[in-house]
Amino acid sequence: MQTATALSRLGTESAFEVLARANALAAQGKDIINLGIGQPDFKTPDHIVEAAVKALRDGHHGYTPANGIVQVREAVVADIAKYRKATVDPANVMIVPGGKVTMFFAIMMFGEAGAEIIYPNPGFPIYESVIKFSGAKPVAMPLHEETGYAFDADEVLSLITAKTRLLILNTPSNPTGGAVPRAEMDKLANGLAAHPHVAILSDEIYGRMLYDGREHVSLLEYDHLRDRLILLDGWSKTYAMTGWRMGYGVWPDSLIEQATRLAINVHSCVNAAAQYAGIAALEGPQDAVDDMVRAFDQRRRVIVDELNAVPGFKCPEPGGAFYAFPNITGTGLSSLELQNKLLNEAGVAILSGTSFGARGEGYLRFSYANSTENIIEAIRRVKACLQA
Ligand code: PLP
Repeated sequence: MQTATALSRLGTESAFEVLARANALAAQGKDIINLGIGQPDFKTPDHIVEAAVKALRDGHHGYTPANGIVQVREAVVADIAKYRKATVDPANVMIVPGGKVTMFFAIMMFGEAGAEIIYPNPGFPIYESVIKFSGAKPVAMPLHEETGYAFDADEVLSLITAKTRLLILNTPSNPTGGAVPRAEMDKLANGLAAHPHVAILSDEIYGRMLYDGREHVSLLEYDHLRDRLILLDGWSKTYAMTGWRMGYGVWPDSLIEQATRLAINVHSCVNAAAQYAGIAALEGPQDAVDDMVRAFDQRRRVIVDELNAVPGFKCPEPGGAFYAFPNITGTGLSSLELQNKLLNEAGVAILSGTSFGARGEGYLRFSYANSTENIIEAIRRVKACLQA
């Protein structure tokens, strides 16, 4: 067999590997606390589940339009008007099986040998993986601990060359929890006016999860970027629906047809019942989302205090999402050494910062999508393990 060369450049998401190792240890009877995986520890709210059950009972068993049922796309438009104060047309919305699909399609549309794509590092690992797979050169955009892991707009603009095709942004961010403030986003958006050849993929999947009164700054607010902006969002995080595989992209007029063609070539459409669940999620009561974000906020305070009390750790306060990203250089261990030590010796599953790119060295990612008791116990074990 001879497979395509590109296959050797495909990376992975080590969260799934660590989860498998943690599960294997748990199956052997080890007591494991999992702060590794990036998914809410809440159930999908009942009314959303019921909508999917009803859709199946009502006979929604067939293909849907490739870009999604019109009511879901209209519900997305209403949601964007409410939470992002932007007007979009349902014709520009494409429903996909999870946020990752918009990411894959966007990167594959722009990436090829000779092209450059700028992406956050540390950042969601699939960005770098798919950029390399496409043949394009990944250009790392640094995020700074000193500014709560926001990017520096001037620094980002300085990375743009004539070969830059796509700029990937992610706020609030995985793995850092960083939320970019409006002033920095304004500066970047203004600067991008001078680079009309650069398309933007804005991954806003944690856009409803912000703390301490921070506002979500959506790239959709910048009218002059709309004709080259792809917005990525979905149901996975906001509605605790990671396993349903429901995401959406808002595509500019010039790309929506190609995006739909990719969908037709790859998955035809998203599971019909899941789309009905998606309508119920967006149009139904939002209290479950508010309650979940409140719970994350409380745990965030606990985990930051606890992490800052670990000798050798320094943890800035995350502004959004459900991740803490402490600097662990004071321990004298590498990120991977510490990840493995904590899993094997303390029974605490977390992720090495290097799972999110080379610039994650010196950091660990703790997901606080777990109970406060488990978080407190996990950090107690971390302390004990480091002091042993
Ligand atoms: N974007 C970011 C920044 C993420 O953290 C994730 C999931 O962890 C995704 C996209 C993908 O979400 P989905 O599970 O909907 O594909």
